[in-house]
Amino acid sequence: MEDRRMWNVSLVRSVFSSYESNKILQIPLCARPGKDRLIWKDSSIGQYSVKAGYRLLRTRASPPQASGPSGTNASHLWQKIWAISTLPRCKELVWRACKGVLPVRMNLKRRGMEIDTTCPCCGEAEETTTHALLTCIGIRRIWFASHLNIHINEEIPENFLGWLELVLEHPNEDTMADIFNLIWVIWKRRNAWLYDGQLWSFERSLAKAAAICIRQDTEVDGLQLGKTQRGLLNSHKSGCGPWCNYQGC
Ligand SMILES: [Zn+2]
Repeated sequence: MEDRRMWNVSLVRSVFSSYESNKILQIPLCARPGKDRLIWKDSSIGQYSVKAGYRLLRTRASPPQASGPSGTNASHLWQKIWAISTLPRCKELVWRACKGVLPVRMNLKRRGMEIDTTCPCCGEAEETTTHALLTCIGIRRIWFASHLNIHINEEIPENFLGWLELVLEHPNEDTMADIFNLIWVIWKRRNAWLYDGQLWSFERSLAKAAAICIRQDTEVDGLQLGKTQRGLLNSHKSGCGPWCNYQGC
């Protein structure tokens, strides 16, 4: 309530979950009247830029979260993720997935939201990070249909971080970059379905991942696959790695 310089508690509680309400109501209000405005606190002029965001991510190369299930040091893991030669947005997404902070439904429920945790894509399982990025039925098909030929079955580590640790052991940097790119596309595909009602076909999903591989940053809506991209999608890499349960690998 602007005139009294205090939160409208009933309004906040009616809009947000109890967890979020409590966090919001703990924010101290400025004693002086004035309009609110968004400020990027890590910039001297208070405005966000990609450069400022990139710089912040680099300076936070030693994140606060401790180790994963097999004792991996978080800082070491972050450095390995950051060393992958792909776009920062792909690496940041993978890191958020490892930390368990992607807004998949199980994570939102864990944070106190009253929410149906069923996967919005298949409707057959709870939407965990692992499910959203790896084991959802449509996502498995994408992994397998990609040039990576990764066959994901129930035997993969339940925890996404556990799976990624296996991935990061792979010696081929290009393969790791391709995996990161595909994870990013899979997440965008999920959000396109959830928020825009758009269902990306396998071809479109793989074309987007291939475009990242080729040009590092390309929007490919409506892209017709060229020769090189078709090759990227179709070429097989045998013996792709310990995370792949495909027979013969
Ligand atoms: Zn699903």
